Amino acid sequence: MQTETDKINLLDLNQQGLKDFFIQMGEKPFRATQVMKWVYHEGVVDIQQMTNLSKVLRDQLDSMAEIRLPECVTEHPSADGTRKWVLEMADGNRIETVFIPEKGRGTLCVSSQVGCTLNCTFCSTATQGFNRNLSTGDIIAQVVFANRTIGVKEGRAELPVTNVVMMGMGEPLMNFDNVIRAMEIMNDDIGCGISKRRITLSTSGVVPMMLRMREVCDVSLAVSLHAPDDELRDQLVPINKKYPIKTLLGACKHYVEGKPRRRVTFEYIMIDGVNDSRKQAKQLVRILEGVPAKVNLIPFNPFPQSDFRRSTAEAIQAFQDVLVASGLTTIVRKTRGDDIDAACGQLVGKVHDRTRRQQKMQQQKINVRGLMQ
Ligand code: SAH
Repeated sequence: MQTETDKINLLDLNQQGLKDFFIQMGEKPFRATQVMKWVYHEGVVDIQQMTNLSKVLRDQLDSMAEIRLPECVTEHPSADGTRKWVLEMADGNRIETVFIPEKGRGTLCVSSQVGCTLNCTFCSTATQGFNRNLSTGDIIAQVVFANRTIGVKEGRAELPVTNVVMMGMGEPLMNFDNVIRAMEIMNDDIGCGISKRRITLSTSGVVPMMLRMREVCDVSLAVSLHAPDDELRDQLVPINKKYPIKTLLGACKHYVEGKPRRRVTFEYIMIDGVNDSRKQAKQLVRILEGVPAKVNLIPFNPFPQSDFRRSTAEAIQAFQDVLVASGLTTIVRKTRGDDIDAACGQLVGKVHDRTRRQQKMQQQKINVRGLMQ
C-alpha cells in the first residue's frame, strides 16, 4: 500500500509543463529535457540517480517533487506471452495494464479511467462502476512501468513498448485533457518517442471530443461500433443514443479528411445471435460506404456477469467474407491473454465504485437476455 503525498508528480507534466516548472524554480528550461530522458529513455525514477543534475538541484527537487509509479499487486503471465499487471495507485484503486508482445513490436494496452461511466452491456469494466479519471501521471506511468519491468532487450536499442493502444479500462475521451497530455508524452521524442501512427485511441464514440482531438493530437483512431443500426447499437453501446451512427460516422470521416492513407479502425465484437448475421454484415458494408475504414472483428470474450456468447468460428468467417468481398480490409483480432482475463473487455481492476453501477448491472443483465435470439 502506497501513501498519498503532496509532492508534485513530474509524470503529470508534458515537456512544456516541465519547462515551466523548472523556470518557476529559477532553473534553465533544458533541465526538463534532462529529467525526461532519465525517466522515459532510461527508466530512472529516483531523482538522486539523475547524475547530470547538481546535488543541490536533486535535493531541492526531491523535497518538492517525485516520479510516482503505481505498485504492482500481481502479474499474470499468459501462455501466449501476454502479460497483465494489476497496478495499485496511492488511493487504493487498481487498474489493469496489458503487454502484448508480437514479432518486432510490443503493444501496451493502457487504461484511462478507474472503471467507466458508459455502461456498455458486453464489457466487464462496466460492471465495476466508476471511481475517477486517471491523472496524466497515472496514464504515462503505465508505459514507464512496463518498460522498466520488461527491460531493454540485449542488442536492441528500442524500448520494449513500441505501440500503445488506449484500450484498457475506461473511455479515454471522457478524460480528455489528461489522456491528450499523456499521449503527447508518449509521442514526444524526449518522452517515449512513439509515432502517432503507433498510438491508437479507441472510443465508444464521444463525438465532440473526437472532433477536438483531431485539432490537438491526431493519433490513430479506433471506434467501437459493434452494431450496424441504431436500434441495436443503442442497446449495446448506450452513448449511441446521444451520438447516433450517422453523426459518429460523420465525425470519423472528418477525422481522416485531408490525410491520405489514413483510415479509421472500426471494432466490431462478434456476439452469437446478436450482431453476427450475414444480413448485419451487409448492413455494415452499407453504412461504412465512403468512410476510409478498416474493420477489426473481435470475438466476444466472456466474463462471469454476462450471458452473451462468442460467435461461432463459422459465423465469424462468413461475416468477414461479406466485408472482404465488398473491398473492406477486415481482420479478426487474435484473442490474446484470455487465459489470464487480459483480453478485450475483461479488464476490471479494483474500483471503489462511486456510482451504483454494480446494482444497476444486475437489472441490465435481465434486460440483455431479451436481446439474444
Ligand atoms: N471505451 C473505449 C476503450 C475501451 S477499448 C472503447 O469503447 O473503445 C476496449 C475494446 O474492447 C473496445 O472495442 C470494446 O468495445 C471491446 N470490448 C469490450 N468488452 C469486450 C468483450 N467482452 N469482448 C471483446 N471485446 C470487448
